[in-house]
Amino acid sequence: MTSMSYRGRLAPSPTGFLHLGHARTFHRAWIRAREAGGALVMRMEDLDPDRSRAEYAEAALDDLRWLGMEWDEGPDVGGPHAPYEQSGRGNLYRAVWQSLRDGGFVYPCRCSRKDLAAALRAPHEGVARADDPEDEPIYPGTCRPVVAESSTDTFSAMEPSGLNWRFRVPDGEAIEFVDGNLGLQRFTAGVDFGDFLVWRRDGVPSYQLACVADDFAMEITEVVRGADLIKSTARQILLNRALGYPNPDWFHCELMLDEQGRRLAKRHDALSIRELRRKGARPAQVLAENGFAKR
Ligand code: GLU
Repeated sequence: MTSMSYRGRLAPSPTGFLHLGHARTFHRAWIRAREAGGALVMRMEDLDPDRSRAEYAEAALDDLRWLGMEWDEGPDVGGPHAPYEQSGRGNLYRAVWQSLRDGGFVYPCRCSRKDLAAALRAPHEGVARADDPEDEPIYPGTCRPVVAESSTDTFSAMEPSGLNWRFRVPDGEAIEFVDGNLGLQRFTAGVDFGDFLVWRRDGVPSYQLACVADDFAMEITEVVRGADLIKSTARQILLNRALGYPNPDWFHCELMLDEQGRRLAKRHDALSIRELRRKGARPAQVLAENGFAKR
C-alpha cells in the first residue's frame, strides 16, 4: 500500500462509555493515518439495536475529540461513503449476505443458544454478541449440510431474517497473515474457530459480515484495532476471499490490562474517559500517563 492511498478507520461500538484501552487503540489508529498522510474514517458500529445507545455514540465522538483526534469522514462530518452508522447500512449487508448465500458459503442454522450451550456442555458460553465476537464458541456443526451447497435452489430465501446463518469454514486450513504490530499469525479453521455467524435470527448482521462489507466499501487499506479481535481477522480473511475482496493490512494493538492483569472492559467505569474528564483530568495528562503512542 502506498502512503498516498492510506485509508484507516475508527470503529467504536456505542454500547458503553469508551475506556482508556479503547481510546489508546483509536489514538494509535489516528497516529498511523496521520503519519501515512492518509484519510481516517469514523464508523459507528451500532449494529445491535438492543445494546447500542445514541448517548454512547455521541460520547465516543466527544471523548475522542477531547483527546485531540479528528477524522476526515464520519457521522458528524459526512463524506462519500455515508451513512457512517452501521444501523443505516442494512441494504449493503443484505446484498453481501446474498452473495455469500449464492456462492454456497453460508447455511441456515436453527440452533438456539440453548441448543448450542447443551451441545458444547459449556452453559456459560453463548453465541456472539455483535460487538464481542471473541465470545463465539466453535460451532458443533449440527445444522451444517454434509456437502457445501452451491445452489440457490437449496436455500432460496431472499432475506436472511428469521434464521441464523453461518459461514462454513474450510476445516484444517491454516489462515496466516503478517500483523503490522504483532508479526506472523496463524489460525486453523475448525480448530481455533468454527463456522461463525454472518446473520442473527433477530435480523442483525454479525460483526464479521458488517466489518468486511464496510472495510471494503469504505476502501480501508489498514485495519488498526485491539488484539482481542485478532482471531476475527482470520474469519474476515475467509470472508474477503469468498467475496473476492482484497485484504487490508492488519495492525492489532496490545490490550490495556487493569491492575489484576485483566483486560479492560466496559465494567471498568472508573477508567472511562468520561469519568476521568469528570474528575478533572487534562487530555495531555491522560495521553502521557497511559502509554499512548506519541506522534
Ligand atoms: N467495534 C469494535 C470495538 O469497538 C472494533 C471493531 C473493529 O475495529 O473491527 O471494539
